[in-house]
Amino acid sequence: MYLALYRKYRPKKFADVVGQKHIVKTLLNQITANRISHAYLFCGTHGTGKTSIAKIFAMAVNCFDNKNGEPCMECESCKNVLSKQDPNIIEIDAASNNGVDNIRDIRDEVKYPPINGKYKIYIIDEVHMLSVGAFNALLKTLEEPPSHVIFILATTDPQKIPATIHSRTQRFDFKRILPQEMFDAIKKYMAAEKINISDEAINYVIRLSDGAMRDALSILDQCISFYFGEEISLSKVINITGNIDDKNCCEFLNALNEKNVKKILDMTNKIVMDGKEISHFLSALIMFLRDCLVFKNIGDDENVLQLWNDRAQILQNCQLSSLNQIKLLEVFSQLQNELKYAINPRISFEISCIKFCSDDEKKNIIQTNNEIKISKKIDTPVKKIIPTDVKELIKKWPQIVAKSSGLLKEILNLSYIGSLKNNVVYIITNDAGSNAILKQKKDEIKNLIDLDCEIDFICKDDYEAEHKKIFNQDDEELKKQLKKINFPIES
Ligand SMILES: [Zn+2]
Repeated sequence: MYLALYRKYRPKKFADVVGQKHIVKTLLNQITANRISHAYLFCGTHGTGKTSIAKIFAMAVNCFDNKNGEPCMECESCKNVLSKQDPNIIEIDAASNNGVDNIRDIRDEVKYPPINGKYKIYIIDEVHMLSVGAFNALLKTLEEPPSHVIFILATTDPQKIPATIHSRTQRFDFKRILPQEMFDAIKKYMAAEKINISDEAINYVIRLSDGAMRDALSILDQCISFYFGEEISLSKVINITGNIDDKNCCEFLNALNEKNVKKILDMTNKIVMDGKEISHFLSALIMFLRDCLVFKNIGDDENVLQLWNDRAQILQNCQLSSLNQIKLLEVFSQLQNELKYAINPRISFEISCIKFCSDDEKKNIIQTNNEIKISKKIDTPVKKIIPTDVKELIKKWPQIVAKSSGLLKEILNLSYIGSLKNNVVYIITNDAGSNAILKQKKDEIKNLIDLDCEIDFICKDDYEAEHKKIFNQDDEELKKQLKKINFPIES
């Protein structure tokens, strides 16, 4: 039977624990000096070893032949723990047993002494999930715990733990495991498993798991079972995890740099269609931007960057200026928070990107927002000649935009109204991408505008060129004809 790496390499004694050196040392000293506390609070993000260390500690305090704080692994008590048959260790997951009754049960039980051992150890995982009533019940037990009882409370969210509990426990903060520590451990496990994996693939897994050993091992499990018997390379890990490689990130960021909205939307669409999560893509972009900034400012520093293969080359290909990289990092980091609550992460993501692309042009639009947004020199004649309903429309434009929603609203907000020929209203966009989207939503826009006229879409550059052609040309005959159809033309 295949045993998941995480289970197989779960540390059984303190010496096997990866990272958390400060905690391990303190606990070993406490056991050797017999200065054990009756209540501990283990705080830290998931996968940093809280419950593993809690179990080793529980085994060590009851071991009959303890060796400098380490459990012997051979006495009856240790064997019971290892075979998960120890009646003295009681594990409770507060995420599913969070009611006051669960804790009252503990209160009744703690009175009874341990069976063939020194201590009864209660490990309560995700303790912040307890109800208020349950916390109060727990507090009563913690106030006067019998000498044979040890509580280990573990939490990923210490801020939710009442101060009264904090003050009655000894707190340990579990840190994320350092990349080098993870690398050394994984390298050892892979050798023991006789699995051929490249260093760059291991580094990538470490980066993805962000200091959580459990995550790293479960990603490796996925890769090993999918590519059974094959060498595991970086591209295989990328393929399995659905993550976005550096080349994609670079291409996307360059599209943002060029303000190429169409390409941005196309690439986003492809990512979604490939079954990848927008939030993962966003994390990859943030990582890439961060590495780009580091690379541009301090170069290839192996303590800060993990450069593999042609990574330096890819980082160099990113055309964004440092200033824009910082700006985007801010935008994306804020978005990362918002995405947790977003109903449609894709739309939020697209809006942020389009906003970034339109930032420079926004100023010009605001300047002209209350007037017809075409060149100033023809301002006065146009006012006279533009059909009344189009003039009305320009006035009502903000209200019309307000009636729309989502991506459409975002684009319309940055667009403006113009007129080139009679009875045609032009919606002018800043770029071809927005233009393409609006074209697709023509019916929706027609309904919003609710005017008996044609609607057409045009990019700002084309509109201005068209405008110049009309107003600066010398063809008297054409001018005459245009006048006939009430064309906005200089008199
Ligand atoms: Zn033992």
